Amino acid sequence: MKTEKRTSLKPLIIVCDRFSAEGTAWLKSHSGHEVIHLPEVQTVAELETAVGNLPNNQLSDIEGLIGRTKLKITKDFLAKVPNLKGFVTATVGFDHIDLQACADRKVAIAHCPDSHSASAAELTWALVLACAKKLRAAEATARTQTWNREPLLGWQLDGKTHGIFGLGRIGARVARMAQGFGMRVVAHDPYRNNQWFEKHGCERVGVDELFHMSDTVSLHVPMTRETKGRIHRIHFDLLKPDSIIVNTSRGGVLKEEDLVLHLKNKGPGTFGLDVFNYEPLKVDSELLKFPQVVLTPHIGATTHEAFKAVSMEAAKNLMGLLRNQAVSGPLPPPEEWFKAVSELAGTSPF
Ligand code: NAD
Repeated sequence: MKTEKRTSLKPLIIVCDRFSAEGTAWLKSHSGHEVIHLPEVQTVAELETAVGNLPNNQLSDIEGLIGRTKLKITKDFLAKVPNLKGFVTATVGFDHIDLQACADRKVAIAHCPDSHSASAAELTWALVLACAKKLRAAEATARTQTWNREPLLGWQLDGKTHGIFGLGRIGARVARMAQGFGMRVVAHDPYRNNQWFEKHGCERVGVDELFHMSDTVSLHVPMTRETKGRIHRIHFDLLKPDSIIVNTSRGGVLKEEDLVLHLKNKGPGTFGLDVFNYEPLKVDSELLKFPQVVLTPHIGATTHEAFKAVSMEAAKNLMGLLRNQAVSGPLPPPEEWFKAVSELAGTSPF
């Protein structure tokens, strides 16, 4: 693994994983810290090895840290970085962080909710359209000399109903795009008020109703104790014959074993999945076997624009944490759903 040399004895900021050169440069010029970017480091084990390989350097030198979802922030890890003051995940989701352990250790933490919404909403529609227009099969057919278009009869979106599970930042953008296609939009989100639904042109429905009445459905909730496995067999049984279900939120929200059973039983629907229980998908994953499933490798935020924006958002948030100033995504978050789920058991919602 390549490492950068530590050049001074200033307090240390380590930036793991993919991160823009502009974000690193901004941190170097604004922080007063030594800033080292370790692009190949994703996990805690890789971080330990890489920092161990840096000259004059130990995990205990780290005051600020940036990572992504594979960097699991646990009580055990925090014990190894006794001088860590601030951690930022350069992602929207934060279910890989033990919030209680961070609070106990007084490590300030933040996520980056502002940079990924447009890209994730666009990927949602890329998957809906890939299913509706049978793009997997169409592309394969276009490469043959037969051009047999009979099996490629798809669906149009205009005039149909789109259902949104979780009407937050991404869900609201998805709603606007659905309206652009000429669709009626229904949504389920118990933590948003009626004005919010009206503002985004959505009709409020229950979860079962959402699956029963929608032609296309997309999932945009965070992963919590409430949403884990929330979409399951009963919802697949409610699907219309030609429905399309897309998940760009978190794999665990949709019960994969129920979906596999539904597909094996030749149940209705076409499915677009960007997120999974295990990532990368295991080679023997049953999901790989079904032609009516379109798969992408968790690329909701994988665009040039989102990458640049989130790197800068994470850099600024880390500085905010270290200087005790406002950040775009403080954790625990102030949102109603988080408070409600936390109160269920009194600690972390995950
Ligand atoms: P957000 O916090 O703005 O919106 C989440 C919405 O879900 C909120 O309106 C909240 O009220 C609602 N919600 C919470 N619990 C619910 C429940 N039990 N039932 C129904 N609704 C509930 O978050 P966002 O920016 O829209 O992102 C949503 C999720 O998308 C993130 O948590 C992240 O996991 C995922 N994400 C994935 C990618 C990707 O690469 N595929 C990229 C960005 C975000």
